[in-house]
Order: sequence, then C-alpha cells, then structure tokens
Amino acid sequence: MKRIFLSLAAAFLLFSCEQGSSGEEFNTDQSSELQEQFEFADDQCGTMGVLDEKLASDPDLALNMQAVELHTSSVMKNGLSQRLVNGVIEIPVVFHIIYRTESENIPLSQIQEQIDALNEDFNLQNPGRSTIPAEFQSVESNIGIRFVLEDVIRVNSRNRQWRPDDSMKFTASGGSDVVNPQEFLNIWVVNNMPYRGGNILGYAQFPGGDWATDGVVLDHRFTGNTVYSTGRTATHEVGHWLNLRHIWGDGGCGASDFVADTPDADGPSRGCPTYPTVSCNTNDMTMNFMDYSNDPCLNMFTEGQKVRMFANFENGGFRATMAD
Ligand SMILES: [Zn+2]
Repeated sequence: MKRIFLSLAAAFLLFSCEQGSSGEEFNTDQSSELQEQFEFADDQCGTMGVLDEKLASDPDLALNMQAVELHTSSVMKNGLSQRLVNGVIEIPVVFHIIYRTESENIPLSQIQEQIDALNEDFNLQNPGRSTIPAEFQSVESNIGIRFVLEDVIRVNSRNRQWRPDDSMKFTASGGSDVVNPQEFLNIWVVNNMPYRGGNILGYAQFPGGDWATDGVVLDHRFTGNTVYSTGRTATHEVGHWLNLRHIWGDGGCGASDFVADTPDADGPSRGCPTYPTVSCNTNDMTMNFMDYSNDPCLNMFTEGQKVRMFANFENGGFRATMAD
C-alpha cells in the first residue's frame, strides 16, 4: 500500500478496528475437491482475528506493539545497517507436532519440505518467481533468511480440533511449551482450527506479544507439500511473525500495510488471479506472499517488506537476539 499513515495513533486504530475485509463478496477459488474436505474461513489466516481478541483482553499489548512500531518507523526512515543489508540471518526452527491420529503426526520429510519452502521464498529460490510481472520485478527482494531445523517435539493429544487461542502452546493445556523464543522460531502444527465460520490455515503472533506464545501455528494439511499446500502458509505467517501486514492493509483502498512499495488493494485476492487485476487504480500485487492467493501463485516479497521485517533484527528490535 502506498499510503503510509503519518500517525501511529492511526495505525493502532487499524489494529483495533480490523475486521478482515475479505468479506462475503469473495469466493474461495479452490478446487471442488478441496472445498469438500476443507471449509475455508473467509479470513483463511487467523492472525488479525486473534490479534483483535488479544488487544481486547490485554491492555499492555497495544503499548508493546506501539513500541515496536516506533522502532520500525525509525529504521524505515534511516535504512538498514550494512551488516543486515549484506548479511543472511540464520533462524533455528523448533516444530511442535500436536497430533491425535497418525496421519496428523506428520513425518520428518514433510517438516523438511516446509523448511525448504521457507528457504526458497526468503532467498529468491522459489520456482514460481519467473512469473512475476515486469512492473513488480524491480521491487522483488532477496530477504536473506536461512531457516534451519533445530528440533521436532511430538505431543499426542486427544483434541480433535483447536481454537486459535494459544492453548496448543502450553503443555498444561495439552500442547507443547514454547522453546527459547528469543533464539528460535517456534512452529506448532495442529490437526484442525475451526474459527469464525470455517477453518483457518494458520496464524501468527506479531512482534511485541508475549514471549510464551511467540511463534506460528499451522494446520498440518498446510505444512510442507500436501494435496492442499506447497508450504506458502508458513511463509505468509512468518511474514506476520516478522511484523508484515496483509498486502491490502486489512481494509479498503485507504488502509495501509505500512510498506511503500506495495500497491494499494481493496481486499485480498483468491485463487490464482490472471495479471493484471486492478483495484485502487493500480495493478494488484496478487503474487505477494502476504496476499491470500493460492500457494503456487504466491511468489514474492518486496524491498519495503524486507526493511520492515529486518527492523526486528536491528539493535533495539524485538528480535535483535536472533541476529547477534
Ligand atoms: Zn495473514
């Protein structure tokens, strides 16, 4: 979104008022086979809905996220330090596989496929990037993060489904406790997450949240390569975990994702749009990982998104301990 809100107060109005403008006017464009087996929620990513609930119940969260935004704004104004511009950040990943049936206890090969997809997307190695339209190629970014599998923790649970209320992140509630979140990316994989009239593919916690719940949650059917997935749900959710917003700014044409080189859009894209689609007088960047297009049609982050993500790793940033 080109429009950058000048005031942080306005930014936090967005945090509190977001209702996921995905709206009923959009239809999911998955195959009928998938629709029979998986009921997509209008907001297939639960991140903003979960944020709304947390902001309502935790008065400190808005202040903590505002501090992150202040730091991020400073970095975006002054630019990244050379060590981050030229370097590659290595992030160890801990997977927590919370399963009831054996098919939900996904194998190590599927977990490694997920790591591989993340590494493709954050290092300009994803196969779909050859289809990026010329007008967007100039802002395509090599993010420069390497993800390395640190550990896999497997927990057998009797739960048939989970609300996205972070209960899977605690051993005491049948899940698995976070591991060293200031050094590791924690990813919980669960069997099913019904939410707001459908199922969500995953959700993430933004920088500024409680360390005890820091990380990303994925439905096991959208982890690695499956009939539903090529692993891009994790890329999208890790984008949130590094403070990226949805490309349409979770509002109409006036809403911002706080990144200057992503064009305005009036809502999420679905399916695999044929370029160009136009909203807000510009061509939509439907292939951005922070949109809702299908996995094979998500292919890029921008330079502006890289700066916003890497602000977390600068001195004073929420995830600075990962870049020491
Ligand atoms: Zn999302």
